[in-house]
Amino acid sequence: MRPELLNPLFAEIEVLKGIGPAIAKPLAKLGLSRIVDLLFHLPTGLVHRQRVARLDDAVEGTIISVEVTPTEYRQSGVRGPFRVLAVDRDGDVLALTYFGGGGGYARKQLPLGVKKLVSGKLELYGQERQIVHPDYVIALEDGQQLPENEAIYPLSEGITSRRMGQLVAQAMPRAPDLAEWIEPSLLEKRGWPGWLAALKDIHQRPANSLARDRLAYDELFANQLALMLVRASSRRRRGMPLSGDGHLRDKLTLLYVLTGAQRRTIAEIEGDMAQQTPMVRLLQGDVGSGKTLVALHALLIAAECGAQGAMLAPTEILARQHYETLRAQLAGLPVNVAILTGRDKGRAREATLMGLADGSIHILVGTHAIFQEAVSYKKLALAVVDEQHRFGVAQRLLLTQKAESPPHLLVMTATPIPRTLTLTHYGEMDISRLDEMPPGRQPIDTRVLSVERLAEVVDGLARHIAAGGQGYWVCPLVEESETSDRAAAEARAAALKLRFGEKIGLVHGRMKGPDKDAVMQRFQEGELSILVATTVIEVGVDVPNATLMIIENAERFGLAQLHQLRGRVGRGAQHSVCLLLRGDALSETARARLALMRETNDGFRIAEEDLRLRGAGEILGVRQSGEAQFRLATPEHVTSLIQFATDDARLLVDRDGGLEEKRGKAARLALYLFERDAAVALIRSG
Ligand code: ADP
Ligand code: MG
Repeated sequence: MRPELLNPLFAEIEVLKGIGPAIAKPLAKLGLSRIVDLLFHLPTGLVHRQRVARLDDAVEGTIISVEVTPTEYRQSGVRGPFRVLAVDRDGDVLALTYFGGGGGYARKQLPLGVKKLVSGKLELYGQERQIVHPDYVIALEDGQQLPENEAIYPLSEGITSRRMGQLVAQAMPRAPDLAEWIEPSLLEKRGWPGWLAALKDIHQRPANSLARDRLAYDELFANQLALMLVRASSRRRRGMPLSGDGHLRDKLTLLYVLTGAQRRTIAEIEGDMAQQTPMVRLLQGDVGSGKTLVALHALLIAAECGAQGAMLAPTEILARQHYETLRAQLAGLPVNVAILTGRDKGRAREATLMGLADGSIHILVGTHAIFQEAVSYKKLALAVVDEQHRFGVAQRLLLTQKAESPPHLLVMTATPIPRTLTLTHYGEMDISRLDEMPPGRQPIDTRVLSVERLAEVVDGLARHIAAGGQGYWVCPLVEESETSDRAAAEARAAALKLRFGEKIGLVHGRMKGPDKDAVMQRFQEGELSILVATTVIEVGVDVPNATLMIIENAERFGLAQLHQLRGRVGRGAQHSVCLLLRGDALSETARARLALMRETNDGFRIAEEDLRLRGAGEILGVRQSGEAQFRLATPEHVTSLIQFATDDARLLVDRDGGLEEKRGKAARLALYLFERDAAVALIRSG
């Protein structure tokens, strides 16, 4: 339960005065529904209102305040703006212009002959000075109400920075002072203010970096503390120590030798699995680095011990592909592999469920169905999760908490993740990196071409197809909409079909599973030469004969995504080409992205650059998973502060795992404040 002290922060925003439907809408749009949301909605800068005595002292285009006396009302046309002409002390004219409405409001605010203090952006309209919709119209005696500096907030239509500032001012007294959770020495070294002081200050002085950093640190600290609690909690659990004797692994016939990175990683996993503490390990390896084989070794260790292993894939297609790969590699070995997805029904499904329950199935591959209630294992000792980024902390936790004795967990991701983000997203896990590609892999030749050269590209495609080659043609998301996304791919496929006929296939996100699989299969079997696709093919599909990747409007993709897509080719020994077709209006960032793609195949380098260019949120698709989205911490904060926050959180959990001492208690507040409530349940008790 959240401590009562914090309740005022989590009250609905409606408790403030003056929140009518008109303002509730833009607030909701900004995601501001509670007091805490409002207080954490930080200003981006200040407007300075230059107080001038006379209009001649004012600079056009700046925000001023000046005393003027209204002299005349003008309504131009029925629909035209209502204008109040006013004069300053020299008799120079300022028009105060109001659009919409008949001027009733303006007349009330600006009675003729009554001097007022007005403030807003001074513009020139023809020869005339004007302020459109003044921000303030104030009686002279209330002049001190006019702030000289005013915070500027991120806005949406229907709310102004001024209004936002008023709401914040109203909300601020509800914020309680909280005990300090930051290590005193760190606080002192950085010169940071306390939590409440920082919060108050940042809304007054948005440029105060000490206050801003402090708040960012709080958020990062809470996140890391939550992860460290997850870590400590999973380490307290007793799992199944598995030391395989190698009798199955020895029988594996590999057509190649393991890379050094694969051997190192397998050894790390072996070491983990032999422990009673369940393994919680993240395996990072670029597309094609050979993660599947590492997973297979782990699964065989489980099987050697008479236990079961399950491998979770994010999509039906990938589940089937893994299933086929494993079956092929295990042919002749006494290991029973089965598949289970949402699509398996009826008798086949029953048989699989039975085999899992009686232990005759040793390895199960599937989609989320494999961890549903109805599925019970005789002795599940290892869970492998492929393509991690759709599988969040909460789900990982569920998995390790579910079983009586929790399975060892190996999470694999093909998204090379910058080091700092590894800490924020997977801080509770041990990390292995496959940072070495299998030998003989040729770098993919990447070229950036203007879309104006489409005809040439299609001619090149014709030669490629004629030579028996295969490839992908990826169409981007259009306007973030699934429908138009599909439409673009459909149109492209139709155009290509006119020339290449039935050699063209199409897959997109809206297709039903079986239909999609059927197309994929025809592509895999070489019946189709070109697969036109939306980004559904982004994850994991393996067709070694496909050596050409064409990405249309490549500038609309992020780096990580481009890298993932490009990774679909270059999987065999043949030379592969990636063509990035770009539109002509390129932003600076887009240009930099495409240049980097041309320059390197190194996923980890691309990931670091991606972080620099775009910010953390985009990289991992955290939008979907909804976690580790920081409200106060920017990517720069993550880079500069995450290590400190991680070390600090780890130290705290080591020293006071029950969070019972003074700082520990304060740290609990930070967890609640940043809504890491679930982690509180994991605090060691007693
Ligand atoms: P990913 O890490 O993307 O899942 P895969 O496991 O699918 O990569 O491996 C990519 C390809 O590399 C597969 O065809 C696999 O058989 C092959 N491969 C894996 N390990 C090696 C190795 N040590 N030497 C040569 N080829 C390998
Ligand atoms: Mg894979």
